[in-house]
Amino acid sequence: LLGVEAATVRFGDRPVLDAVDLEVAEHEIVCVLGPSGSGKSTLLRAVAGLQPLDAGRVLLTGHDQAGVPAHRRGVGLMFQDHQLFPQRDVGGNVAFGLRMHGASKEQQTLRVGELLDLVGLPGAAPRAVAALSGGEQQRVALARALAPRPRLLMLDEPLGQLDRSLRERLVVELRQLFGQLGTTVLAVTHDQGEAFALADRVVVMREGRIAQSGTPLEVWQHPADEFVARFLGFDN
Ligand code: ATP
Ligand code: MG
Repeated sequence: LLGVEAATVRFGDRPVLDAVDLEVAEHEIVCVLGPSGSGKSTLLRAVAGLQPLDAGRVLLTGHDQAGVPAHRRGVGLMFQDHQLFPQRDVGGNVAFGLRMHGASKEQQTLRVGELLDLVGLPGAAPRAVAALSGGEQQRVALARALAPRPRLLMLDEPLGQLDRSLRERLVVELRQLFGQLGTTVLAVTHDQGEAFALADRVVVMREGRIAQSGTPLEVWQHPADEFVARFLGFDN
């Protein structure tokens, strides 16, 4: 479904993505791990069409996305800082992606209800976004990203602000949901437990490059190098 070939992004003379190659198959769930500043968000933004490449290319179902604007790529991106619309209520935020796809009012209301149940905010549709906690806002953003059923769903720290018990519950539910819907997912997380629970494949980034890509078990049992081993916490 997704092919990233030698993708390079420089800020100044520093490569933030350094000839990154990555493939994501249909229905695959890939989690990107790596230290702060290793280029994870930049990779997602490049795939989404929000960050131009200095070299290399992004392919979706074999088609080069050069020059294809973000809204035409059929990918969903949930940002690290979630960027909800403060002037809309919760339901309006979740329904945003549905309206663009021509769903009727009744369909929208039904689907918004389903999505809010799913993220653990039943009945929250009429609430004001400003009156929600950070974690609740994050769940609304997740529901909004899921709403239009994008062919590739990209999540940047989707559960970052939530407490551990909610995160663990949501990870299990998300994995079930993505399996049911056949959603292809590229998710960034700091939390290796989360990545290992969610992912079919884990990608570890270091300074704009991919240090290792493999199944959670492969990466866990055979870290490619000392950096990956240290990042997984094997020396402490
Ligand atoms: P985090 O885990 O903290 O979210 P990350 O892996 O997502 O980190 P990126 O946001 O991709 O990291 O940023 C990678 C590097 O690129 C960082 O050093 C960052 O400061 C730099 N960077 C990102 N965006 C810009 C920009 N618009 N201009 C200049 N430098 C940038
Ligand atoms: Mg980031």
